[in-house]
Amino acid sequence: MKLKPGEFELIELLTREHIKDLPKGVIGPGDDCAVIDLSALFPGGELQGKKLLLTTDLMVEDRHFRISSSPQDLGWKLLAVNISDIAAMGGAPVAALVTLQLSPNMESFAEDLYGGIYELAAQSNVSIVGGDVSSGDKVSLGVTLVGTCEGTPLLRSAAKAGDLLYLSGKCGFANVGFRLAEGESLDDLSNEARRLAASRFARPVPRVELGCTLQSEALANAAIDISDGLVQDASHIAKMSGVSAVIDLAVAEQFLGKRYLASVLCGGEDYELLFSAAPEHRSKLEAQGCILVGKCTERLDAAVLVQVGERRLSWPEYAAAAGLPASGGFEHFS
Ligand SMILES: [Mg+2]
Repeated sequence: MKLKPGEFELIELLTREHIKDLPKGVIGPGDDCAVIDLSALFPGGELQGKKLLLTTDLMVEDRHFRISSSPQDLGWKLLAVNISDIAAMGGAPVAALVTLQLSPNMESFAEDLYGGIYELAAQSNVSIVGGDVSSGDKVSLGVTLVGTCEGTPLLRSAAKAGDLLYLSGKCGFANVGFRLAEGESLDDLSNEARRLAASRFARPVPRVELGCTLQSEALANAAIDISDGLVQDASHIAKMSGVSAVIDLAVAEQFLGKRYLASVLCGGEDYELLFSAAPEHRSKLEAQGCILVGKCTERLDAAVLVQVGERRLSWPEYAAAAGLPASGGFEHFS
């Protein structure tokens, strides 16, 4: 079932009356993670600058995954999407709770799922510290993850006009992997692209190390992870920062070729980081392999615009002409 109003509007509707009552030192909801400033909870100086990050993500059968997928891969991805939210704040993941709704007779599925969870947990120094299991008609997989951060976390709202927009890596591959998994043949793809797409879709690798570097060395202003789609995630940064994001189409076209531009711009689930940075950090960021994909400007007539050669088109205008979603993101299985 598709939510009406949409996911973002519903969260806003449910929480807006109460956000203003949050105690000092608590930030949320609206970013990749909620933030709790420990020095506000435990005054006295020792915890000065230390923050807890909290995030949770739910994956629902036939909404976010097919039950025919490898349960080990689903377990990996379930933890990865949560770790990615911590990475987007520049934090380090610490401990997770796992909440499952399973159909009867799914013991071996659950065992394999946990195999994938523990595999990524071991690589990411995450402890699985609890959870809950219930039965139901459809399978739902949830993780709640706690992380830490020292200093100011990377927020969506901190982009400045004049910042450059960077990606931690090429995006669009996960959506192509999804299309392959759904049975599209995509014959023109190289074997290398096909392999990368399948692995990015099944086992995304959250960019924790880069996120920590961006935060600790103050290289980025605003950041988000690409879960919904490059354009939609860029619009989250733009709207929350009061700027416009201009995406360079010539760069996006290079990732997978013009034919897969829709996957690159709107595909989502890549779990690369999209971040804004002052131009002075350009050489450091490019040395890290980050890709310059656009820039932030003063707020124009749209949150996201597309640079097409010499022309700059608002996203809605470009999307209508190119037959792409106005939201800038696809919803799988919808
Ligand atoms: Mg996110």
